[in-house]
Amino acid sequence: MIIQRVVLNSRPGKNGVPVAENFRLEQSTIADTVQAGQVRVKTLYLSVDPYMRCRMNEDTGSDYLRPWQLSEVADGGGIGVVEESQHHNLAKGDFVTSFTWPWQTAAILDGDSLQKLAPQLVNGRLSYFLGAAGITGLTALLGIREKGHVAAGANQTMVVSGAAGACGSLAGQIGRLEGCSRVVGIAGTDEKCSILVQEMGFDAAINYKKGDVAKQLRELCPGGVDVYFDNVGGDISDTVISQMNQNSHIILCGQISQYNKDVPYPPPLPPDTEKIQKERNITRERFLVLNYMDKQEASVLQLCQWIQEGKLKVRETVVEGLANIGAAFQSMMNGGNIGKQIVSVSK
Ligand code: NAP
Repeated sequence: MIIQRVVLNSRPGKNGVPVAENFRLEQSTIADTVQAGQVRVKTLYLSVDPYMRCRMNEDTGSDYLRPWQLSEVADGGGIGVVEESQHHNLAKGDFVTSFTWPWQTAAILDGDSLQKLAPQLVNGRLSYFLGAAGITGLTALLGIREKGHVAAGANQTMVVSGAAGACGSLAGQIGRLEGCSRVVGIAGTDEKCSILVQEMGFDAAINYKKGDVAKQLRELCPGGVDVYFDNVGGDISDTVISQMNQNSHIILCGQISQYNKDVPYPPPLPPDTEKIQKERNITRERFLVLNYMDKQEASVLQLCQWIQEGKLKVRETVVEGLANIGAAFQSMMNGGNIGKQIVSVSK
């Protein structure tokens, strides 16, 4: 059977900015027959995520991430529908997902590697299982629960960087649902800031590309910052940390501003910021959602319940067509997305 697939065409280099041309669309084939234990799936949605930047390097810098190989098919979070099954638990028409879905229009996969999805849990919005009801929502929820020390009634102020992105937009809302009394986002455009406040219930949002971030933060967080959900690192994080309270907490979710630099993860804080962190006893422990997968099932149900109740507002930026996945990745790394960046492969 003839399929389309996307392979890694070239590496951006450890310190290079990734571009769409680092990926290449090509025609390929898959077997016509499905063996015992396997299924043939048609791909519906693929996820593009910042961690993929590390997979473009020969050495990802992480023991849990495999590098993509040149001229080999890329992979990541994906959703599809079963078209033919030789697996005891999967039938034609089932919707399934995996963290290692190949970037191709159809594939033959090991049925045991797939999780079955229940579309009714997300009001039929299947792609949410890659975002708000998938690994992104889990990252926001479990990051807050495991590292945020949020307590209802404690009058805590949360700041979120990368706030209009996939994790950030959910983290601010979940921070509020878990009990924070004030939530302030930091994002890269006025449009994003306005969505955060008007749609997602953030109290305020700062466009970090305009004006004095430190001054705005002082005005918007008069009691200081108790919980910082950090997606970006770099200068923005130094500014936020300088306004954090004694015994406060950083949720070290990601450091996207450093991903095109050859630095270790998590990048060490500059000396002045590290001094503040130590003197104020601010926790900054590494958080990796994959370490908490024993909580996946219950947490996904919680996220789905909030989505159904309208308590968790979800935004997606959907790009059509496998051919455009490289461009979608490039755009996300440059802030072109609001909420989760999804590629819709075929209807
Ligand atoms: P995302 O936020 O949807 O996309 C990245 C966003 O970051 C962009 O839209 C952009 O928006 C912002 N950004 C890019 N470069 C920036 C820079 N130099 N300075 C400030 N902001 C910048 O991505 P995501 O999926 O939600 O991931 C957010 C972070 O969480 C990433 O660092 C990712 O690696 C991490 N993550 C961690 C885990 C975990 O287990 N710890 C799991 C999933 C994701 P602006 O317009 O605001 O610049």
